[in-house]
Amino acid sequence: MNRIAVLTSGGDAPGMNAAVRAVVRKAIFEEFEVAGIFNGYQGLIEGKVELLQLGSVGDIIQRGGTMLRSARSVEFRTPEGREKALQQLELHGIEGVVVIGGDGSFRGALELTKLGIPCVGVPATIDNDIQGTDFTIGFDTALNTVIDSIDKIRDTASSHERTFIVEVMGRDAGDLALWAGLAGGAETILIPEEKYEVPAIIERLKNGSGRGKKHSIIIVAEGVMPASELADILKREANIDTHISVLGHIQRGGSPSARDRVIASQFGARAVELLKEGRGGVAVGMKNNGIVEYDIKDDEGSTNDWKAEMYTLSKELSI
Ligand code: ADP
Repeated sequence: MNRIAVLTSGGDAPGMNAAVRAVVRKAIFEEFEVAGIFNGYQGLIEGKVELLQLGSVGDIIQRGGTMLRSARSVEFRTPEGREKALQQLELHGIEGVVVIGGDGSFRGALELTKLGIPCVGVPATIDNDIQGTDFTIGFDTALNTVIDSIDKIRDTASSHERTFIVEVMGRDAGDLALWAGLAGGAETILIPEEKYEVPAIIERLKNGSGRGKKHSIIIVAEGVMPASELADILKREANIDTHISVLGHIQRGGSPSARDRVIASQFGARAVELLKEGRGGVAVGMKNNGIVEYDIKDDEGSTNDWKAEMYTLSKELSI
């Protein structure tokens, strides 16, 4: 193998740049040529490929977003689109690809591997929803952004004795909401993995105020319902007034945390080693603090193992 490539795909996450840097530098260290594919799979289909040097990835380790830019590609989901992508890889003499992205991007990587170009996945998504790894790049940074917001909301909530509902990202995965709720001391956490009961939420709020609590914070993952809907329910069912805060895309931005930069560096470098060994259809990750690799699965909708114990703990600590 002489030349490999790297691309970022799907939803962007802080730390993707640090992973790109690690792939490029490790590849050059291993005496490969390394190309950057811009705009994800769509850019590959369109031939947006450029050789990168050591200096091409200078001064990006601390930057959010991705210098290779990211995209979603409907065309790549079709066999014809993937055939075009394959032709571009052959045209540019690329013999292996590191795909930095989420679950969907990994399935794309598996499809390319099946066509004969080994691809290795590097998990990067703020949702932390990739089976096979305890953590994904971007999760820690997003979590800290959410905590920062909750702390600020808590200041104003306690000054005015208010109940706040904070909506965080997570359509199918509640990791961000759960970790943020636990770290932020939220009274109630609603996540897609666990059933919720409105009377129980109301009872917790009433018990809290009965004990003289000055404020209450409810964290709701977007996949459960919008914060506004929960506010309407609480008003209608119990005449409880709430304020809502929808954090939105600020959760995707910002300079990556030290932890995200470190795991991005470790994941990126390991991905290059795997390509060197001729491996494809696999992804890197972290289990029990060690760097691991695992097969990318064909099935849709994989999520990380649900941390039921953590959910129980959050309830025990927030009564
Ligand atoms: P993420 O990687 O963040 O989960 P997406 O699910 O949007 O984001 O996937 C990113 C891109 O990966 C898609 O736009 C598509 O081009 C490609 N992709 C996703 N699923 C598949 C699939 N089953 N087969 C081929 N390509 C796919």
